[in-house]
Amino acid sequence: MAVESIAVLGAGLMGRGIAHAAAVGGFATSLVDVSPPALEKAIGQIGRDLDEGVVRGKLSAEAAGAARARLSSGTDLEAAARAADFVIEAVPEDIDLKLATFARLDAACRPEVVLATNTSALSVTEIASATQRPARVLGMHFFNPVPKMKLVEIVRALDTSADAIATTEEVARRMGKETVLVRDSAGFITSRVNAMIGNEAFLMLEGGIASARDIDKALKLGLNHPMGPFELVDLVGLDTRLAVLEFLHKSLGERYRPAPLLVQHVKAGRLGRKVGRGVYDYEAAT
Ligand code: NAD
Repeated sequence: MAVESIAVLGAGLMGRGIAHAAAVGGFATSLVDVSPPALEKAIGQIGRDLDEGVVRGKLSAEAAGAARARLSSGTDLEAAARAADFVIEAVPEDIDLKLATFARLDAACRPEVVLATNTSALSVTEIASATQRPARVLGMHFFNPVPKMKLVEIVRALDTSADAIATTEEVARRMGKETVLVRDSAGFITSRVNAMIGNEAFLMLEGGIASARDIDKALKLGLNHPMGPFELVDLVGLDTRLAVLEFLHKSLGERYRPAPLLVQHVKAGRLGRKVGRGVYDYEAAT
């Protein structure tokens, strides 16, 4: 079955980026949220992002106009689900909410429709268990900001079929994304490696191996990372990184035990750029 229309659930940071990419990719896209103000904000942001794409020469004014025309929004999940050929869920990271949402989607969508979750860390297999179609449920892990980030991790749950994966690869390709396939496991590929590098950097700092500036410099200039691990964790939030590491530690074992210096930074309230202070001090710098 050719996918022509996509429903995106949740119009937050990720949902609006996914809807943007779907509309630009030529899909009739319906963005659903429980909150009308969230929808209004998302549609406004998508419009500004499309305009910015035109200014930066990423797409023509006609393509931006066509994407806008393909986009609709509303609060009725069942209506959007009934009309959709493919669904991407991006509601908050809460397992009970995901289970309830997938049960509703399963009841409303045609049986052949693939239901994808953008979960960062929950079990896709568990989410699939809320449906009568586990073969057509998988993870589609996008990255922020979605319109600019190339990768989608396709997460294969225990019962996901090869056909559902092929359909999703094609949808992602039309959205302008590259895909990798990963089995449903904690941290997928990217979060797992990234958390490990970030933790190792804290262990090195704690051990007095090098300064934070030099560790960042080494990874940028020696390994071609676009950002150093401390610059990155200050952006992501040290509390967010600690939560990811605690989850990986619980799921995958000792190798992921959070570095004591990271834990200390979080206890001290040094949570990163969002509070003006993390590994680096931003208030002093600006
Ligand atoms: P967000 O809080 O910005 O947005 C969630 C939206 O979902 C809100 O607008 C909320 O009103 C809406 N919502 C709540 N209940 C709903 C329901 N029942 N039906 C429809 N909409 C509902 O969250 P986000 O950062 O966009 O994250 C969404 C998902 O994407 C989470 O699972 C998260 O783990 C995952 N994710 C986030 C990132 C990131 O960088 N933020 C990256 C990859 C994956």
